Amino acid sequence: MSSFLSSDQQSKFSSLDPSTKEVLGDFYIDKTPEVSQVVKDAKVASLWWQEIDFYKRKKYLNSWAKLLSSRSKELAQLISKENGKLFDDALLEVILSIEHLSWAAKHAEQILSHTKVSSGWLMFGSKSFIHYDPLGTIGVIGPWNYPFFTPMGSISYALAAGNTVVFKPSEYVPMVAQWMKNSFDEIVPNPHILQVINGFGPTGEALCRSGVDKISFTGSEATSKKVMKVCAENLIPVLIESGGKDALLVAHDADVDKAADATAWGAYSNGGQTCIGIEVAYVVEEVYDSFVDKLSTIVKNLHSGTQVSSSYGPMTIDRQCEIVRSQVQDAIEKNATIICGTVTYKDNYIDPILLTNVSSEAQILQEETLGPVLVVKQVKGIDEAIELVNNSPYALSAAIFSKRHGLEIAHQIKVGMVSVNSILTFAAVPSLPFGGRKSSGFGRIHGEQGLKEFSYAKSIIDKRFSMPIPLTSFRRPKKAMSWIANLSRIIHR
Ligand code: NAD
Repeated sequence: MSSFLSSDQQSKFSSLDPSTKEVLGDFYIDKTPEVSQVVKDAKVASLWWQEIDFYKRKKYLNSWAKLLSSRSKELAQLISKENGKLFDDALLEVILSIEHLSWAAKHAEQILSHTKVSSGWLMFGSKSFIHYDPLGTIGVIGPWNYPFFTPMGSISYALAAGNTVVFKPSEYVPMVAQWMKNSFDEIVPNPHILQVINGFGPTGEALCRSGVDKISFTGSEATSKKVMKVCAENLIPVLIESGGKDALLVAHDADVDKAADATAWGAYSNGGQTCIGIEVAYVVEEVYDSFVDKLSTIVKNLHSGTQVSSSYGPMTIDRQCEIVRSQVQDAIEKNATIICGTVTYKDNYIDPILLTNVSSEAQILQEETLGPVLVVKQVKGIDEAIELVNNSPYALSAAIFSKRHGLEIAHQIKVGMVSVNSILTFAAVPSLPFGGRKSSGFGRIHGEQGLKEFSYAKSIIDKRFSMPIPLTSFRRPKKAMSWIANLSRIIHR
């Protein structure tokens, strides 16, 4: 466990290094009164943040991106220390976040300001516009596995759209959130534009009840339901980025070497603790043996550790180790074959586990794992693989390997994001929306949709001259509606 209640129980907790259990810092737990005050301050500050307009916000956000870029290694060190991921993986997380921040700052004005639309024949005397106004204050609740990239996917877009943000990080990674807040405060001369509150579930619950204008939640399916229930009390809109059971499909015409290489990274990088990580590979029978052979050769050379030569770090939290152990044990009891790895592990270090012949009844094929385990399943043809993906209760992302049919297959898969002949790459493209369907959540961060998630569409119609037949007046002639109906018939014949 990398976070726990300190001796000053109920008021403080500590953040721990997951590999050494060393205490990295102590944090006060924010309760309802503190959360309410923070949200009040954020609401007052939002008047200034909205007033300074897109241009000035862009300048501040670009300056923040510049600061993050110049101190990316310092931030990556901290992420690596607190979350346990390798320095290079932490650095990738920071670099991707900077790209999104910069994209949101650059495009907010063009996407969200005044768009003229046709008024149609019924209102041809008027001009019509859509304007996207900021919602006000956004509550962001984050997970531990991507402590910077994931919350920044909401925070960057919410700020660029003109909102203030109150961020509750996971109790396992409060130091990264504090670093984020401190760096923002070096740029923006108002401490209430981006604020951080700390604590466990009750602090998140208090945020949902605090009067924020929207909650952007990233975390497990179980907590998503609790968040929605509390937000429903006051009709607070929610965006849910939840878990997945993401699949990779290998077609008969795939480049098997490239597919195996990408699968290994998609499944085991960051110790498999990636919401969009690959948890199951559906491989058509023509290339199954060759795929398993090439993949197991790669996987046998991967290992968990803290050395430069390690493939990934320790599991961030104890709970996740137990999930991996029990799902693998259950699969083996149901006659799965273990090609690489073992069900035992020391401390929080789990070497990669590769399973085949897994029964469809096994827990590991029903539930999210979020650990360094991959199931490879043979299918008769690509249609069977597509059906298996579309029947899953989760629908976050998928990857396809096929030389000629990748796009055709992508169109048949009903998940939020698909990568063809690569894995996870959509997350690196700021203009692509990010999010899932079904138990994986709803709503979108990133891209144009990400900016619009943190805005509301305001319709404006401006009358320029009176219509020959007034429709919305008690002076409307008796026969007016019959003339309009005739005209409508002619137009729609
Ligand atoms: P979690 O649900 O345990 O916690 C997430 C956050 O919710 C934490 O900050 C936690 O303190 C808070 N929380 C807990 N109870 C709460 C309550 N009752 N009300 C409000 N907030 C509450 O999830 P986790 O273990 O931190 O994160 C892992 C999960 O997140 C996995 O399922 C993973 O797939 C998912 N995830 C999804 C994405 C995505 O983009 N779809 C990205 C990263 C992680």
